[in-house]
Amino acid sequence: MDEQQMKQAGVLITYPSILNFVESLDRKFTTYKLYEAHDREAFLTQHSQSIRGVVCGRKDGINAELIDALPCLEIVATSSVGVDKVDLAKCRQRNIAVVYTPDVLTDEVADLAIALMLDTLRHISASDRYVRQGLWQSKGDYKLTCKLSGKRVGIVGLGRIGSAIAKRAEAFGCSIAYYSRSKKTDVPFMYHSNVIDLAASSDILVVACSLTKDTCHIINKPVLDALGMKGTLVNIGRGSLVDEKELVKALVECRIHGAGLDVFENEPHVPQELFSLDNVVLVPHVGSATWETRKAMADLIVGNLEAQFLKKPLLTPVPL
Ligand code: NAP
Repeated sequence: MDEQQMKQAGVLITYPSILNFVESLDRKFTTYKLYEAHDREAFLTQHSQSIRGVVCGRKDGINAELIDALPCLEIVATSSVGVDKVDLAKCRQRNIAVVYTPDVLTDEVADLAIALMLDTLRHISASDRYVRQGLWQSKGDYKLTCKLSGKRVGIVGLGRIGSAIAKRAEAFGCSIAYYSRSKKTDVPFMYHSNVIDLAASSDILVVACSLTKDTCHIINKPVLDALGMKGTLVNIGRGSLVDEKELVKALVECRIHGAGLDVFENEPHVPQELFSLDNVVLVPHVGSATWETRKAMADLIVGNLEAQFLKKPLLTPVPL
């Protein structure tokens, strides 16, 4: 298959992406932009026989209904490493390949986790607001905050991102412990066989595991109670890993020290109760959101689609 033939391959794009990602898909394939369709059903009926690939993102993913509407679908490419919004069972059943974007975003998300730790403990955003509001002049110096260096960091899910967070936290002189389904033989960190024990022995608990039916609300009231009044929660995984109602209660009632959150249960809605808390740092799911990383993710999606249509091995298939 040459470039001209590849251009015939139909690719449905479900969400408007920033960067020139859509342009590079336009150049390589025949694209169908679902997000521009006024009548989604009519659009799918019109183009379903031409669509061999779908590009989706972490927000929308792809459900069984959309998969069923595309009888010629061969490959789903999600611009994310989390595949919680992709109906994997349906893809498996239809023999549809799924590709994602691991590794290329690991550093970025780990950097953000460290930024959230620092910000939550040292109140960088809160003290920035203090300066901007003129309070330094009117009220004097900002209150004392807490140190990150040397703290005990507990990581829930020592995968690619969790390991990159551990590496960075070690450079801050932090001790590292973790919880995963099984103990790793190749790391020197302390393993806890349950999250409550990990939380009880951590100053900062970082959530970095994938969202599955088993990990939904893995951070719940008993875990937050174990983390305790001196403990800080950082979540860069997925919102539903944390029982958000319980987290809000714990923060409002000062039962934990603070939280740094990139992800929320019902994005883009963030619990209003958190807005006035200076010990809470809220960012809008920006873990991988830099020009460099989004470009690397886009290139990986394009490379995977090319591989599929050229019948070459996929670059980053999700094991199904
Ligand atoms: P990964 O390498 O596959 O790591 C996933 C981790 O989850 C593994 O350590 C795994 O541990 C753990 N895990 C899975 N099921 C578990 C269970 N039932 N109990 C305990 N731990 C479990 O993935 P990654 O690349 O590090 O990414 C991790 C997650 O980060 C993604 O799934 C995604 O949701 C999130 N993420 C967020 C952003 C953002 O913008 N905030 C960006 C990228 C990724 P074991 O296999 O050892 O049990």
